[in-house]
Amino acid sequence: MSESKPIVIAIDGPSASGKSTNARIISAKLGCIYVDTGAMYRTLAWYALSMGIDVTDMAAVEALCRDWPSKLVRRENNVWLEVDGYFPEKEIRSSEVSKAVSYVAQAPYVREWMKEHQRSCVDFGDLVMEGRDITSNIFPETPHKFYLDASAGERQARRDADGIEEDLAARDQRDSTRKAAPLVVVEGATVINNSGESPEETSARIIALVEAQRQA
Ligand code: C5P
Repeated sequence: MSESKPIVIAIDGPSASGKSTNARIISAKLGCIYVDTGAMYRTLAWYALSMGIDVTDMAAVEALCRDWPSKLVRRENNVWLEVDGYFPEKEIRSSEVSKAVSYVAQAPYVREWMKEHQRSCVDFGDLVMEGRDITSNIFPETPHKFYLDASAGERQARRDADGIEEDLAARDQRDSTRKAAPLVVVEGATVINNSGESPEETSARIIALVEAQRQA
């Protein structure tokens, strides 16, 4: 998939709504670069915890973010943040990071920093980018906007199956009620509830819609 202006497929939704699984399948099928923006926030949360920062102290988190040794790196069809040349791939999935991340993500300066870096990902090529504010705040201009959802019970069951102990409802509540770029369904987004559906089915629906939107 390629044309002069990079294509951006933006996917938002609450925790365990299938964003990452579907974004991975779609990016592989369409030859796009996959950007997991949650991983970027998780990397900052991991760094804050490893530096002994209180993640509920917004000023301290913002001060850390102003000066952290991080860089966007592309490996094959993924883009992520490395800190001092290291991507903490396993560490960012721990329950400690999962509990801390939505506090870090509330800080306005952090969100501005992430926005600048996430928008710059188009320099790598066509994107499938997923998160909480991609359709509303990072790429509101893209015509390819999707909001994934599934029942609360199914989402909690998916996370439990990952073996991660976490109260998803509490994190979703913080993500949807924060002042800066909360999770919302924007006008023009296609809402897809994938309860009881396989990732193959959901991703095929999204690809068909993107193709129809590109022909429109
Ligand atoms: O997608 P994932 O569950 O890994 O996201 C972790 C957290 O990062 C979210 O709960 C949210 O607090 C934050 N986040 C965000 N905006 C994004 C992506 C993630 O606030 N675009």
